[in-house]
Amino acid sequence: MLLPIYLYGTQVWSRPVKKVTKFDDHLVGLIRDMFETMHSADGIGLAATQVGLSMSLAVIDISVMEDYADEKPLVVINPEILETSGEYVMEEGCLSVPGIRDDVTRADAIKVRFTDGNFDRIETELTGMWARVFQHEYDHLQLKFFVNRLSSVKRQLLKPKLSRIKRGEMKIKYTAVSALDEKKLR
Ligand code: ZN
Repeated sequence: MLLPIYLYGTQVWSRPVKKVTKFDDHLVGLIRDMFETMHSADGIGLAATQVGLSMSLAVIDISVMEDYADEKPLVVINPEILETSGEYVMEEGCLSVPGIRDDVTRADAIKVRFTDGNFDRIETELTGMWARVFQHEYDHLQLKFFVNRLSSVKRQLLKPKLSRIKRGEMKIKYTAVSALDEKKLR
């Protein structure tokens, strides 16, 4: 089942994210729906907050990217970043921030702990694209977007575009919920 994607400025982004504690069929179904939603929207990562749920859960699949075709999809539950090292700049975009892409500085190697799709607790090191996407999704579970990591000057310049996202005026190919949509529903 495809889920609507909650855009920048919607209410889910001001609600605290809770740890996942029930590892049941409902969670398995949600993970399946999140993968389907992400693939359908051509995303490579999707956090639960992006489908309106304040749960510490994300899915990642970078296999659509050139040079990463052999990589397997990853389920990330209750993630922690234990250590970071190095940094590099790469352009990022986000399904919740449509129409905006910008260079973001992030660690290039991270030591992480999370529960995977088999519900096993994993501790591992990630580098390169894996580290990049993991940090982007981890940010979402801290209620942050990549735009929060840009300089204040850049953020100022993006303000008109961010306002348009809040009003749902961006052209989007997937089903999305804007802040204005939420106001109309109230
Ligand atoms: Zn994102």
